[in-house]
Amino acid sequence: MPDTPPVFRFAPSPNGLLHLGHALSAVLNHDMARAAGGHFLLRIEDIDQTRCRSEFETAILEDLAWLGLHWQEPVRRQSEHLDAYAKALARLNDLGVVYPSALTRGEIKAAVAAVEVAGRTWPRDPDGSPVYPGRERTYSAGERATLLSSGKAYAWRLDMAKALSLMGDDRLTWTENGSGPEGETGTVVADPAAWGDVILSRSDAPSSYHLSVVVDDALQGITHIVRGRDLYHATSVHRLLQRLLGLPEPLYHHHRLILGADGRKLSKSNQDTGIAAFRADGRTPAELRALIV
Ligand code: GLU
Repeated sequence: MPDTPPVFRFAPSPNGLLHLGHALSAVLNHDMARAAGGHFLLRIEDIDQTRCRSEFETAILEDLAWLGLHWQEPVRRQSEHLDAYAKALARLNDLGVVYPSALTRGEIKAAVAAVEVAGRTWPRDPDGSPVYPGRERTYSAGERATLLSSGKAYAWRLDMAKALSLMGDDRLTWTENGSGPEGETGTVVADPAAWGDVILSRSDAPSSYHLSVVVDDALQGITHIVRGRDLYHATSVHRLLQRLLGLPEPLYHHHRLILGADGRKLSKSNQDTGIAAFRADGRTPAELRALIV
């Protein structure tokens, strides 16, 4: 059988302007695809319609074109593929590893504070948020039906313990061709349990980042995922979802983050480290490349 060419992707969310860290991701994906004789795809991760705006998408395409990057058409927009994520959620539901949960942010905070006031610490996920303290995973079918028909906002969550029990004795790993925050590289053992019962969809956002990213990477035939180290730990959840949904395993390469002058991660609201500001200063794509790669 002939070898199929590798497929890379850059997958920004249009909830702000691209900064130098995004430029690094985009350029690395583009250059690695080219060096390997592969394809470079662009995916717009616009599930969260409350934060994503079409002006930002236009600005992203302009910045990437200015950088001299060429991607294969068509661009995939997640908001146009909600049925694919709904299907994946239904499949997880058939496996019995999802449940509707109803605690609001405020209720989660209060539940965690109630434990911590007694001197115990409540576990935090790798991003620093408390793992979900609600007990709805233990609801009977009747209680679950009552919640679903109550008119209350709810989110579908992964029942992490149950999902892991389906893995049996199989070790869940991935191949890291870049490196993690502690220099992890090579075969890495995934630790999805650290995330607790992650959200897979909400009433106001029909799919979560975790669910849509694994569905799309599979549907688009992505073989190589090159992205910032801030998403290194999320890979554990992605590997678990890939296994539950029977999706192929891509290779991963997490790259360094570009930090601001204050030593902190760049954010989309920080205008001076944006590609657009760099362009507006009259600087060239070659200068930008020299700065980041
Ligand atoms: N959409 C994500 C972001 O803008 C990146 C997703 C990924 O590369 O897996 O941070």
